[in-house]
Amino acid sequence: MLKNISIKLKEVNFVALTGIIIISIILLINFVKVLKYSYFELIDDDKYINLSNNVEYFIPKDNQYAEINQVADNSYIKFEKNNSKNIYFPEDVQKVWLKLRLQGKQASTDNIMYIDCEFIENIQFYIPTTDGKYVTKKPNEYFIFPYINLPENIDFNRDIYINSTWDSNVFNLLLAKDSNFYIIQNLLACFYIGNLGVLLGMLIMNMILFFSSKDKKYLFHSLFTGSLLSLLYCLSGMQKLILGFNSNNRLIALAAMAASTWVLFIYSYLDIKNNMPILNNFFKLSILFLVLSLYISEIIPDGFTYDILYLQMILVGLYILISIYSYFKFGMGSIYYLVGIFILFTGFIIYILGSYGLLEWNIFAFSTCYPAASIETLLFTIGIIKQIKHEKEVNTKLQLEVITDKLTNIYNRRYFEETVVNKILQLEKEKSLVSMLVLDIDHFKKVNDTYGHSTGDLVLSETAMIIKQCLRKEDILVRWGGEEFVAVLPFTDSKESTIIAETIRLSIENHKFKFVNKITVSIGIAEKDVVEDFHSWFRRADNALYNAKENGRNTVCICYTNEIRNNS
Ligand code: GH3
Ligand code: MG
Ligand code: MG
Repeated sequence: MLKNISIKLKEVNFVALTGIIIISIILLINFVKVLKYSYFELIDDDKYINLSNNVEYFIPKDNQYAEINQVADNSYIKFEKNNSKNIYFPEDVQKVWLKLRLQGKQASTDNIMYIDCEFIENIQFYIPTTDGKYVTKKPNEYFIFPYINLPENIDFNRDIYINSTWDSNVFNLLLAKDSNFYIIQNLLACFYIGNLGVLLGMLIMNMILFFSSKDKKYLFHSLFTGSLLSLLYCLSGMQKLILGFNSNNRLIALAAMAASTWVLFIYSYLDIKNNMPILNNFFKLSILFLVLSLYISEIIPDGFTYDILYLQMILVGLYILISIYSYFKFGMGSIYYLVGIFILFTGFIIYILGSYGLLEWNIFAFSTCYPAASIETLLFTIGIIKQIKHEKEVNTKLQLEVITDKLTNIYNRRYFEETVVNKILQLEKEKSLVSMLVLDIDHFKKVNDTYGHSTGDLVLSETAMIIKQCLRKEDILVRWGGEEFVAVLPFTDSKESTIIAETIRLSIENHKFKFVNKITVSIGIAEKDVVEDFHSWFRRADNALYNAKENGRNTVCICYTNEIRNNS
């Protein structure tokens, strides 16, 4: 039991360990950052005011590039409906305005506005001041939560205007009372980067496993992990930092990439072609659709792309159903895999429900896809390793069964023909010595007739065992058929093989067999001549055996190239 557990742990621990080391290093680096702060206080309700419900979205009627004074005048303003779901602006709208109604709400002296959003670009804040003017500000930092330090003379009774290029789908504005809100930023960064680190680690791990094993399951999973990674980078706004691009379309493209590599992964992991041929075409078509949606998302405007995203989600849902079905019906895949996809799917569903306003959009909803992706990728990797190991074990067992004689548990004639003959050819090429013993039990028919066939079987397996014990590691013993055995002794001349053959003969002569008590064997030996072919060599050994029988059995005979000599 304990041994079993330790073997199981050994199988997975190098993956888990790598994952844990990566997480630990990244968390440590980030916690050091956090610890720089004098005290540690998590954000709670009375530390910030959520202003998200106080936001109105609008575009100026005639001129979307209107100045702040024109916008604030209201005369140019056409307000758009602001529901909790996504807001679709006309296609030609490049810039939008947001009106943030502070309605006298204020925090303490340190007022910091945190902007929790996706795809924020060219965002400009117009903050009303007590002197009746506006101060323009841009977010200070572009990481997890961009934020703005509000001016001291802010007029909380007037509205803040925000001007931005429209490619954001989520806006969450928090007015923090406490500047230690910054700690949250670090904790979140810690959390996100930790999770992304696991993904990155597992991506590298899967690549290494692919190059070392050439099993394409690892390749597909590393591609999938790579797509997830870029998807998450995109979601957290880091793509702006790293890649410099910013568009919902790109998100759909990345989602399509993630989904299509996932299809490939499931396709190869569940071996759909062989195990569920009925689904073969469905999988091929869905890959086509995903690749197509990747292309479409790059050429069509925002808005429509969300419909593709829905289709992608439905498709992914279908794959999950197929996975569950195949797990329970055919016992395919591992439990790691099943748990992994559930966690991943749940994480992304919460995220999507949140971003579409069906769940409250908060840090929790926003963050779910990070741990979901990293746990999935860790579990998947463990799952594939286990699956591939299991497949290998089954294959090795099957291969061994094919070349093993059931009764005596030594190699059979098939192994001789498929493998040993090649080995002999190789020895011939190297001009190495090689000898052959042909062994036959004496008067075996009598054993069968006297004690019955099953006792005869017992004698056969006992004899095989004794012969094997007398041979060396490099020697190959096969059951040639009936009660006849052949041993090939590499790097051995006839003199040496005579000694070995004599040992075998004596061991059998002196052995007390069950029921039968005493039996003997006759052995023929031939050392291979450089020029002769296998058949001639075998014929000589067989002739030597015939001679041994002729000479009264329980004897070893050698056949030199052109003559047969009695050894005993
Ligand atoms: P000798 O070789 O000394 O000339 O006599 P022998 O009695 O051994 O002669 P032969 O080789 O003709 O007989 C072999 C017998 O081995 C015939 C067959 O019934 C028996 N035999 C062959 N395969 C098996 C087997 O798998 N199990 C058992 N119990 N008997 C087998
Ligand atoms: Mg015999
Ligand atoms: Mg025989």
